[in-house]
Order: sequence, then C-alpha cells, then structure tokens
Amino acid sequence: MDAKLRGLLHDPADLMEESDCPGLSPHLRCAVPEPEKLLWVSQPRGPYRVVDYTCDCQAVLYELISCGWIYLIHKVIQSQPPKHAYAGGWSEASLWWSRVLTGTAR
Ligand SMILES: [Zn+2]
Repeated sequence: MDAKLRGLLHDPADLMEESDCPGLSPHLRCAVPEPEKLLWVSQPRGPYRVVDYTCDCQAVLYELISCGWIYLIHKVIQSQPPKHAYAGGWSEASLWWSRVLTGTAR
C-alpha cells in the first residue's frame, strides 16, 4: 500500500476510540452507499501468503493474499469461515485492495 493511502487510513481519532487497537494496520473506511461488489467464494485457490491486512481490532478484517502469480482479497468475519475474491495480477489487485480499504468496493 502506498504511504499516502496508509496515512489516510490511520486516523489518530480511531486509536483514541479503540483502546485495544495495536494501531499497526489500517482500519476500513465505511462503505460508500453502493460499493462495487466483489464476487466472494468459499474456497481459496491453494496455499497463499498474506501481503497486507486490515486491523484485527474490528470484527470484519480483510487480507490481500498472494497465490503464486495471482492475488485474492480475503474477507474474515471473525468466528465464521473466511471468504475469498479473485483480484487478478498485482496492478489489478492493488487497485481492488485500495477500493476495499476506502469503502468503494466490498
Ligand atoms: Zn485497530
């Protein structure tokens, strides 16, 4: 994630509201009224590694994961099985990741 976006998502007011927050990862912005819909599926596409993630002080967190040469967005609603959405190659995936973080896609 670029520094400008990360700065935008680290609002000091968030940390004051959430005392259990480690403050290391970005927080999701509220979704816009009709965000672009990601196509969620229940199965990942094999082994993966986490590239970026949102703060786990929130009940719903997202991860950007790499499966070989493709990327997926990983949605984790704590205590439910995670869901996965195909995000494409790096340039496409980084755009989708920015949209999820800023609330223009979910
Ligand atoms: Zn947090």
